[in-house]
Amino acid sequence: MRIAVKIGTSTLTHKTGQLNIRQVENLCRILSDLKNAGHEIIMISSGAIGMGVGKLGLKSRPTDIPGKQAAAAVGQCELMDTYDRLFSVYHHTVAQILLTAADVENEERHANFRNTIFRLLELGALPIINENDTVATEELGIGDNDTLGAIVAVSTDADLLVLLSDIDGLYTADPRRDPTAKRIETVEKLDEKILSLGEGVGSALGTGGMKTKLRAAQIVTGNGIDMIIADGSEPALLYDIVEGKPVGTRFLGKKK
Ligand code: GLU
Repeated sequence: MRIAVKIGTSTLTHKTGQLNIRQVENLCRILSDLKNAGHEIIMISSGAIGMGVGKLGLKSRPTDIPGKQAAAAVGQCELMDTYDRLFSVYHHTVAQILLTAADVENEERHANFRNTIFRLLELGALPIINENDTVATEELGIGDNDTLGAIVAVSTDADLLVLLSDIDGLYTADPRRDPTAKRIETVEKLDEKILSLGEGVGSALGTGGMKTKLRAAQIVTGNGIDMIIADGSEPALLYDIVEGKPVGTRFLGKKK
């Protein structure tokens, strides 16, 4: 199976911006194991800004664009260094790819991106993709990594997109505020009612929220690919996911 796995900042870092060592170590071990079992993994990893905040010792996440971009420039090195070290333990080789909206909109650059990814997979490497935050502002860029994950999943003909998040699925209401909220196991059709469930459900850290996840679901399911939102603090769920067991919320790709 070719699986695109998007990892949110909330899975990688504590609220302090420092690395969540237990979660990241678990994640890299499990993804290595899935690769050893023959699955192809493509990671879309956030966390550049978050890790830059930790590394620079900032008190909070910058709100201005140059501040975010500077934090991302510092944090992206730290992020890749962390992945490189942790995957090396299991003899897996990581590859960094930084993209902007222009790269996926331009036919030639998009084709180059696809060629590189396919060659990396053939070589057994593990591509790790993030937005090139130092040049892409939120206004001009892809803006959030849920959407980037969806674009990557479609561009690389993935079988599945998994969004690992600080929320374990789509709920009938915001579970942080409404104790009666229930998790929806399967979404067959992204109608207005489902899309409205994304309103106001944000993420404690990072840029995304439920709204960007539902947008990602629209992109991938429209291209015949399933998407799952799952709890990033439980990366072992990835084993259940590849075995087809119900985890989080699964959005069914439209049959082509
Ligand atoms: N590219 C941003 C970062 O690495 C994250 C964007 C997002 O999480 O949606 O910090």
